[in-house]
Amino acid sequence: MWYLTEERELMRNVAREFVEQEVKPVALELDKKDEFPLRLLKRAGELGFLGITFPEEYGGLGGDWTTLALVTEEISKVSPTLAVVMGAHSVLAGGILNVLGSHEQKLKYLAPAAKGEIILAMAGTEAAGGANYGEFTTRAVLDGDEWVINGTKLFITNIHYADIYIVVAVTSPPDAPKAAHSLFLVPKDAPGLELGKPENKLGWNGSSTGTVYLRNVRVPKENMLGPEGKTMLPFYFSATDEFMICGPMALGMAEACYEKAFQYAHERMQGGKSMYDKYEVVRHKLVNMWIEIEALRGMVYTAIAKRDSGQMILGEGRALKIKGYRVAEYVANEAIQIHGGLGTIVDTGLERFWRDAKVLAIGGGSIEALTEDIANILKREARK
Ligand SMILES: Cc1cc2nc3c(=O)[nH]c(=O)nc-3n(C[C@H](O)[C@H](O)[C@H](O)COP(=O)(O)OP(=O)(O)OC[C@H]3O[C@@H](n4cnc5c(N)ncnc54)[C@H](O)[C@@H]3O)c2cc1C
Repeated sequence: MWYLTEERELMRNVAREFVEQEVKPVALELDKKDEFPLRLLKRAGELGFLGITFPEEYGGLGGDWTTLALVTEEISKVSPTLAVVMGAHSVLAGGILNVLGSHEQKLKYLAPAAKGEIILAMAGTEAAGGANYGEFTTRAVLDGDEWVINGTKLFITNIHYADIYIVVAVTSPPDAPKAAHSLFLVPKDAPGLELGKPENKLGWNGSSTGTVYLRNVRVPKENMLGPEGKTMLPFYFSATDEFMICGPMALGMAEACYEKAFQYAHERMQGGKSMYDKYEVVRHKLVNMWIEIEALRGMVYTAIAKRDSGQMILGEGRALKIKGYRVAEYVANEAIQIHGGLGTIVDTGLERFWRDAKVLAIGGGSIEALTEDIANILKREARK
């Protein structure tokens, strides 16, 4: 592959070994029990996977996004949930901390996060709608040397396991013509921070998603992350990385389903022939799955190579999540079909990829909201 270097391949091999020896034996059970993959997340930290793109000064590997994509792809072949939990920690919350954090904040929070010694969560979404920041009601008010935060956040990943919640709150006065948002680092034991029960979800089982209540939560002034009232633009840029990483995640999921279906179609015999040889419809399904996977692979590693070369990929990054979701859901669906009745059985290990693919269309940003974003980006670019 054109995007593989010796260094990247080495890291991918470490990921493959980790997946084979430590993730594979437990992935299905974790999904069935809806259990948070805490031990695996900690191991990912020990192996350096949680800080691949963070600077070495803050405990990271100082590596590139292609390397992170390769690791994400490998992990997603076996446990999309682990990839989600890692992404919420390192890319969503860790990403904005890396962009906006002061030197002190990065030493205190990013360095241990890079090693998995502490876990991060990003608390943005509210009842008003995940993409509807303009109507968020969580508010932070300065009282002496402390910010007092009140509000409720929904569907937050890594709850109950996170040590630090990065909370989005409005800091402009209630009568301001436009809400201005700020970010706060809120420790899990801050008085007034309460967590709901993890939701029983369609997919991403074990990723511990739920409600965060903030009732007169006080944090010192120095826990503000980034400039007051000016964090939405940097967050818009940084969130692109999260959407981008959904590409390799979806790619890994689709590859796993394709490989399982390809093998099954060759092993399953009917009338003395394998299904692959007997049924054109099965062969053609597999060919079309393969075509979609290779198209996604090209798109993923091209966009991420651009990101690594320092180019802005606001549109392409978002497109990776949309295309990734479509390919993963399509391939998982066809793989189940090729397996017939067996495809519907949980222990076959396919249906969870289908469920996880569906959640990819919503969790962390709906594909429709991202499509709308891309429409605006294309219009802006056409004007240049
Ligand atoms: C499993 C899971 C994990 C999550 N983890 C996190 C997390 O860690 N942190 C966090 O902050 N949030 C998280 N979320 C929240 C997630 O980002 C939101 O669910 C998502 O942005 C959609 O927002 P909503 O649920 O409020 O749906 P709504 O805003 O009510 O949207 C419903 C539907 O309306 C359409 N729609 C909404 N807005 C637009 C728009 N602007 N343009 C076009 N169509 C639109 C879409 O079809 C969308 O699916 C998670 C969600 C899930 C399901």
